[in-house]
Amino acid sequence: MNPTFTLLCVDDEKQNRALLTELLQGEHRIILAKDGKQALDRAREHLPDLILLDVLMPEMDGYTVIRALKNDDLTRNIPVIFITALDSAGDEERGLELGAVDYISKPFNPAIVRVRIRNHLQSVRQRRMLEQMAMLDSLTGIPNRRRFNEVFEQEWRRCKRDSAPLSLIVVDVDHFKAFNDTYGHAAGDEVLCRIATTLQTSLRRPGDFVARYGGEEFVMLLPGIDSEGARVLCEHTRADVESERIPHAVSNVAPWITISLGGATRIPRDSTPNPELFSLADTYLYVAKNTGRNRVAWAPPVES
Ligand code: GH3
Ligand code: MG
Ligand code: MG
Repeated sequence: MNPTFTLLCVDDEKQNRALLTELLQGEHRIILAKDGKQALDRAREHLPDLILLDVLMPEMDGYTVIRALKNDDLTRNIPVIFITALDSAGDEERGLELGAVDYISKPFNPAIVRVRIRNHLQSVRQRRMLEQMAMLDSLTGIPNRRRFNEVFEQEWRRCKRDSAPLSLIVVDVDHFKAFNDTYGHAAGDEVLCRIATTLQTSLRRPGDFVARYGGEEFVMLLPGIDSEGARVLCEHTRADVESERIPHAVSNVAPWITISLGGATRIPRDSTPNPELFSLADTYLYVAKNTGRNRVAWAPPVES
């Protein structure tokens, strides 16, 4: 089944908006705008998959609209197709130079418009799949460090807005080099996959997030819970991994695989994520390592 796409159709003439709606609404969700300003507002609000943009409009023309779209990080990557009564080669060139993916002259042939749109949406779909793949760790299938950076930013902003605490936890497998040396790298890979799954199933509140940060390190975000609560959740996660009883005969911590966790909780104050939260959690990971491993260590809360 094809996913449903959202299309924004911008045209100052009611009749044209009706025509495009009739042509496309069976297949897609259609949002309409009757002038440039409305187009920019609705593009930001709905983040459509494709924009059909009229060129000749009073006040703000289509060229001005596409420039504004391309200047905005939120809307920059939304493909734009010009649908216009202007049909000189110069107009078409100008539209394409401003970043439009296609240029369709009015009056248009409905069947051709429909197929062209379908083709562009096919590219949208492929790009989206690639983007999603680029956010996943290829070994474990859970989000990767890149995705973590994005989610960290989102959660930071959300918690700042709500004056809610955000906990960041760095997780590291204990004596994993020795495990690899004993059981082989392939077995090590399998352990990383199992740990990834356990971490994910262990944290199940909405907003909880786990990523593979790199190597045998994972990172978790727990928004909206105080440091004591977050620490308790992490203790459960630690116990969940231990209860898998994955044999690790050469570990001096336990005869099975264990993890160490370092966490820190802060209510975000800065407008962008403060990297200190990560370094603080990392510092406490080393506290967990140095005080025996297979444990959770937490940065003391700040007095406020
Ligand atoms: P500690 O308890 O102090 O964390 O000791 P450790 O041996 O786990 O730590 P160290 O940093 O010395 O070793 C990390 C090991 O993790 C070394 C490396 O071979 C292994 N590792 C990192 N990434 C992967 C991976 O993708 N697959 C496998 N199988 N092993 C990995
Ligand atoms: Mg490590
Ligand atoms: Mg380790």
